[in-house]
Amino acid sequence: MTKEEILKALAEVLHPAKQDRDIVSLGIVGDVAIDGNSVVVTLAFPKHRDPLAEYLAGSAKAAIIRNFPGVSVEIKSVVKDEAPKKKPGLDLNFDELADVRHIIGVASGKGGVGKSTVAVNLAVALARLGYKVGLADADVYGPSVPKMTGTEGEQPEAIQEDDKDIIFPLMKYGVKWMSIGYFADPAQALIWRGPMACNALKQMILQVRWEDLDFLLVDMPPGTGDIHISLVHDIPLEGAVIVSTPQDVALADVEKGVNMFRNESIRKPIFGLVENMAWFTPEELPENRYYIFGKDGGARMAAKYDIPLLGQIPIVQSIREGGDSGEPAALGSRPDSLAFLELARKLAESLD
Ligand code: ADP
Repeated sequence: MTKEEILKALAEVLHPAKQDRDIVSLGIVGDVAIDGNSVVVTLAFPKHRDPLAEYLAGSAKAAIIRNFPGVSVEIKSVVKDEAPKKKPGLDLNFDELADVRHIIGVASGKGGVGKSTVAVNLAVALARLGYKVGLADADVYGPSVPKMTGTEGEQPEAIQEDDKDIIFPLMKYGVKWMSIGYFADPAQALIWRGPMACNALKQMILQVRWEDLDFLLVDMPPGTGDIHISLVHDIPLEGAVIVSTPQDVALADVEKGVNMFRNESIRKPIFGLVENMAWFTPEELPENRYYIFGKDGGARMAAKYDIPLLGQIPIVQSIREGGDSGEPAALGSRPDSLAFLELARKLAESLD
């Protein structure tokens, strides 16, 4: 009685659910151990509780006894290691975030409140304070980091590593920058929708070689739609900073933003509110403040939602010019630059 003879006997056992192929060619027969007059056969089934497992074990035993009368047979059934199922779409792998200490979303209830301006300047200010900082521009509908940092037209380097594309961020002003704008022209980015936009965004965060960072800011797309929910679900955001302007009409949008992060299925902390365009200050009269959008709107909002008011940024021509010229205002020493430094200091203090 050889192993080959036993396998030949087992090949008589057909699998009724697999077009009557035999259990040997299907790979169900595993180990065959022969010891004198006894045989132990291991059958490996691909899933728990295969409904035919008992039937096939009985048939296998009968086939061996039929061919070798008088032999003692034991059939053991085991479950094969299941190959991990590949999820459709993007593989969520957080390896590149392993050395990042704080991942913070910069969000706003609607567009145009200066979310990207605040994100870029906050990143520069944190770097000026000596922190290691990265910024992922996830604003798929209007990536503004390339323009605001003067890195338009630059191409980040990419390599293939273990079948995965790894992108290297651009370094400027002491900050590591990554933006979807480096890969698609802005006009094209506008037509991206749904899952495609979501996956591209996640790649901008998960497939970037950030290395060690104190802060990774994620400039979120404006609004509170599906993309946001998917993003906050799949990216290990520690919490968020919400940017708003002081008008009463902005209140409803802040509420949407707050509710998104406090939603049952998300429950991420909000580290604070940044009141942008808190007052207007003329370039030449930095001490003068004109509350053109109303006074203390930010403080009221912060109190209403029980979140700290992290900073107040004036509306100043130089902030807009800094955004357009690619030299963020936070690089300078004017009062508005200092407002960003103060914001950065407060945020860092609240987290470290
Ligand atoms: P969002 O990201 O919320 O859509 P942006 O950051 O792109 O908004 O800002 C919209 C416009 O407002 C830009 O032209 C920007 O330069 C300008 N802006 C934003 N904040 C200020 C500010 N505090 N002072 C002056 N201009 C500002």
